Amino acid sequence: MGAAIEKNKGLRVSFPYFGSYTHIIGEIAHEVGWELIIPSPPSKRTVELGVKYMNELMCYPAKVTLGSLIEAAERGATDVFTFTSCGSCRQKAYWVLQGEVLKRLGYKTTVHPITLGIHSISEICALDSSLSRWKATRIFFGTLREIKKFDDLNYPEISDCSAQPKIGVVGEIYTILEPAVNMNLFEKLRKMDVLIHNSLPLSYFVFKIFYEMGVIKRKDIDIKVLKEAEEKAKKYFPIKTIGGHGKEAVIYTIYYALKGFDGVIHLLPFPCMPESTVASILDGISEDYNLPVLRLVFDEHSGEAGVDTRLEAFVDILKRKKRGRNGKGILRA
Ligand code: SF4
Repeated sequence: MGAAIEKNKGLRVSFPYFGSYTHIIGEIAHEVGWELIIPSPPSKRTVELGVKYMNELMCYPAKVTLGSLIEAAERGATDVFTFTSCGSCRQKAYWVLQGEVLKRLGYKTTVHPITLGIHSISEICALDSSLSRWKATRIFFGTLREIKKFDDLNYPEISDCSAQPKIGVVGEIYTILEPAVNMNLFEKLRKMDVLIHNSLPLSYFVFKIFYEMGVIKRKDIDIKVLKEAEEKAKKYFPIKTIGGHGKEAVIYTIYYALKGFDGVIHLLPFPCMPESTVASILDGISEDYNLPVLRLVFDEHSGEAGVDTRLEAFVDILKRKKRGRNGKGILRA
């Protein structure tokens, strides 16, 4: 965004680390003129803190983000944002639980829910009465532009004909977008010489309503095929929503099958209600469309070596299948 940093207004603001988007989101604080405590990437300690103070029945993202907020409070944050959603999943309760934990631990840090969407403008204004709505709107849309630019660069369109295997990634959004949670999955896959398509870049989450209205388009998506996938998804999952991005996981798995992808990776944190609900539906789609689906579940007990082995085996199978299909090799079971 690049505007000058204004004078410090006494707020020391932070938020949970959020992968490559962390610095883009952090610019909001700079632009408003708050002192920013830039969160650190989640470490083993971050996870341990979250696991220690969040109820074990809560999902892994709630624990990792709590650990990140505790570390921000330790570094003197007076106010922290935590991302919430207007959807029907328990992410919208994270801020309540996290605020309670910080209070019990004796921090004076206030937790503010921030919706990653059009409501953000009012929520940011509410946090700082000296901020005009016009300025908040300008900052908000500037941030969105940067997020979109980042996504367009990092998740480009994938050509229909490619010699490399094409893999689509579906699942819970934080697990997809936070490398510390998915154990650097995208980086690992890129090194394995495959093409990856992310069904849920952050810009899609934020702009969803505009995409659905057709006001803006996702360059990396074949909209005609996506509409077809939405229709076919009704047969498998005739429910409007299950919360989180469970419905999207169903639609995009079909989309990838229709687009001739070689495989799908389904990412979910434990114990994620929407993603575990649709897991068996994805298995059915995998069978019907002959599309391999690898499911990876992450929590504090996940071991990187196990994830690596499964990824390597999956990619190896896809490569052998692809060679077989192209007539350049023999496919053995
Ligand atoms: S989508 Fe899954 S991980 Fe996210 S809040 Fe809901 S249950 Fe938790």
